[in-house]
Amino acid sequence: MGDVDVVIAGGGPAGCAVAAALAELGWSVLLLDAGVDRHKQLAGELLHPAGVRDLRALGFGGVVDAWTSQPVRGFAVRFHAPTHTLILPYGHGVTGLSLEHANLTVPLQESVSRRPGVTLHGRARVTAVEHNDEHGVRLRFSLEGAEHTVKARLLVAADGRASPVRRMLGIAEHHLRISTMLGVTVDSACLPHPDHGHQFVGGPLHALAYAIQPGVARVMVDLPLGSTAGTLKARPELLLALPPGLRSEVQQALEQQPAPRMASNDDRLAETVWAGSAVLVGDAAACCHPLTASGMASCFHDARALQEALHRHAGHIPRALERYAHERRPAQRTRVALASALYSAFAGQDEGMRALRLGLLHYWEHSPRGARASMALLSSEEPRMRVMAREYLRVVGHALTAMLSTRGQGSRLRSAGPLLRSAGPPLRDAVASAVEQLGSWLHRRVRRPVYTLARAGWASPRRAFASNR
Ligand SMILES: Cc1cc2nc3c(=O)[nH]c(=O)nc-3n(C[C@H](O)[C@H](O)[C@H](O)COP(=O)(O)OP(=O)(O)OC[C@H]3O[C@@H](n4cnc5c(N)ncnc54)[C@H](O)[C@@H]3O)c2cc1C
Repeated sequence: MGDVDVVIAGGGPAGCAVAAALAELGWSVLLLDAGVDRHKQLAGELLHPAGVRDLRALGFGGVVDAWTSQPVRGFAVRFHAPTHTLILPYGHGVTGLSLEHANLTVPLQESVSRRPGVTLHGRARVTAVEHNDEHGVRLRFSLEGAEHTVKARLLVAADGRASPVRRMLGIAEHHLRISTMLGVTVDSACLPHPDHGHQFVGGPLHALAYAIQPGVARVMVDLPLGSTAGTLKARPELLLALPPGLRSEVQQALEQQPAPRMASNDDRLAETVWAGSAVLVGDAAACCHPLTASGMASCFHDARALQEALHRHAGHIPRALERYAHERRPAQRTRVALASALYSAFAGQDEGMRALRLGLLHYWEHSPRGARASMALLSSEEPRMRVMAREYLRVVGHALTAMLSTRGQGSRLRSAGPLLRSAGPPLRDAVASAVEQLGSWLHRRVRRPVYTLARAGWASPRRAFASNR
């Protein structure tokens, strides 16, 4: 196997986007995909407008136009108690889209395989990273029963959240299993708000739903770890957050679809996204609970950030990877923290989270600006952690106002403590993010002269690349 500029492990949304991005820079790309069957997966189907924009910018406009997708104009959030639905719009004239996962991903792979400079092996698995330093990588992969070795200037790990390649590179991660997702298809006519992603919050279980093709909607129910479809069949009251029509459709689907699709919902955050000449993108770098539907938009954003960094620092891969890491990190931290905070708010059963839901309802009902700001965070248009912390505090303020006007003294006292304590993690994250950005800015300012000396042969480049955050 001859040498190439870049090997990409994984041909999912992230791998295809990176292949397109680097082929556009004139790089020779070897795209290796293990060939997971996407028709059986429960995974990304709703794409926010930012993701659509990035796909078009990466030259996939023809693919996007050829999809039989359903328009998405924002989220419809249905609160269980009190029962009330609020619309969070993307904004005037802006739409996302949704379609079945395989129909979304397979054409991306087909399209990128036709680009000049891209070679795709659709049933190849990276099995070992033999060497990796700032000068390049050497790795092994299996293809049609034979082992091959290839050298490249860059290795991109786009092999999903379990990322075997991340482990081969010795990169640690923070991992938390949250819950199990069960997905069935139902008649889309029973969705209360066509053209919207639905969030059913505050009931015994949280659920999501959106149309994926004409007449067909996906419903995803968030189950506690260890549950199965049998759990839902045995306890139909767990679906109380769904409106009656949709609830009976789901119950019918559970009877008729004997093996509904399942997936685990995880928080995963790699401790670093690059090492030597290898870099992580998409879910391999970070993933979170799918309730914000931000995973694929984040993959496409990663691809564009990597393209921009490699374009800017052509010929100096470690510096480009450092830039990529720096550019993407604030948005990733906000995305993961937001998903975690929203999941607690939407699904939490304690007094504090009940009060917070009341705050969300009150905030979105009384502040169209607040509804827009929340949707901007949800859809990854707004990446700043401090904006997330500010919005959280506003919701807490609205929760306190709503509590004062509706509840008895004892109940207020019981809820106020946990409600105020819940603001701790977002505020801590905001401060940590600000400190980190300042540290990273100082680090780059102080280190710049070292790069210059290293280029002139006066200092060891190894030392200059000691930090990769
Ligand atoms: C239940 C659920 C619902 C979701 N809903 C949404 C949604 O509505 N909107 C959204 O934006 N996101 C959603 N997501 C997230 C979205 O699916 C992911 O963010 C996205 O698929 C990540 O793409 P990826 O390319 O990083 O990884 P993957 O899609 O996991 O692709 C990884 C690829 O790597 C390959 N691979 C693995 N190991 C190797 C190896 N050793 N060598 C070579 N190839 C290898 C696999 O074959 C696979 O093709 C959801 C996720 C879940 C679990």
